[in-house]
Amino acid sequence: MNFNHFAQKLLQWYPENKRDLPWRNTQNPYIIWLSEIILQQTRVAQGLPYFQKFIENYPTVEDLAASPQEEILRLWQGLGYYSRARNLHKCAKQVVEDHQGSFPDSYKGLLKLQGIGQYTAAAIASFAYREKVAVLDGNVFRVLSRYFGISTDISSTEGKKEFQSLANKAISPNQPDEYNQAIMEFGALQCTPKKADCNSCPLQPGCYAYNNNLVEKLPVKNKKIKVSTRAFLYHDIQCNGKIVTKTRGPRDIWEGLTDFPLVEFQSPEKIDPEASKLFHELQAFNPTIHFEGEKTYKHILTHQKIFSNFVSFKIPDNHQKALEKWVKDNGFLLNDPDELEALGKPKLIVRYLNDKK
Ligand code: SF4
Repeated sequence: MNFNHFAQKLLQWYPENKRDLPWRNTQNPYIIWLSEIILQQTRVAQGLPYFQKFIENYPTVEDLAASPQEEILRLWQGLGYYSRARNLHKCAKQVVEDHQGSFPDSYKGLLKLQGIGQYTAAAIASFAYREKVAVLDGNVFRVLSRYFGISTDISSTEGKKEFQSLANKAISPNQPDEYNQAIMEFGALQCTPKKADCNSCPLQPGCYAYNNNLVEKLPVKNKKIKVSTRAFLYHDIQCNGKIVTKTRGPRDIWEGLTDFPLVEFQSPEKIDPEASKLFHELQAFNPTIHFEGEKTYKHILTHQKIFSNFVSFKIPDNHQKALEKWVKDNGFLLNDPDELEALGKPKLIVRYLNDKK
């Protein structure tokens, strides 16, 4: 395998074709780390405004570490995968408290930080410190698999090992930073998942997939994601201008975000306010109730499909004291609209609130 030729072609292609992105042309590990975390499982066009917001609000890792978590979750709102935002905060604190505000300057040291896996550690170590460690993300798997004709399943342990070993051999020893950027950008722009631009590709003469008509078949990925369906009935409870909320707990989606009290049902068809324990408890406050059963809010995550309906309760002001006690006893909170606006919320709650305006 001619690794040198492969790396040289990518290194020639990169400066002529790369996108001008704000986290390129820097060796600042904080900026590189922030961009890498934001861009995981996110398209560049979607992640870019978030990156700009974070850099504006937190120009340094110290600023990020000192921020309350709710503020970070609020800025993160809409990006999904909220565990990344919580890890971002934990990692910033770790860097400030355990490393005097400086990121560790090696792949191995970076791997010890919260939320930094092999890919992110390799990206930071190579871009910031020019360490020779190969990145392996979806783009890199695709380019390597097609060019070298590797059909091992990329989601298998065996496949990951094989591709990592290949990536380590292919990386340019003199320009590991530029090479890593180049192969990822090449996968994003030229050797794309669908409709790869093979006709203008500088790697075409030596490309196994192109020469064997396998471009559409590689890489091989067999892992099927199991998607479960969940059905939520949200309770929108208002009294004297305030609204009842709940902070989501651990071991479930959206940890730490602000939600409405909810009851979960076995399937969307089974959602029924009268079968909700909260619905019956709230009768004590003589509410005006409104349920729009036909208006379902759907939200799709990688492993879950969520169907939600909302039932609203307007409680007369004279029940406020009793309601406050009920709220406290249930571990809920009472927020005014401005407070609620400033808190990080799941996307479907934001959609519901916007529809109500
Ligand atoms: S020839 Fe096509 S499949 Fe091969 S590396 Fe180039 S773009 Fe990818």
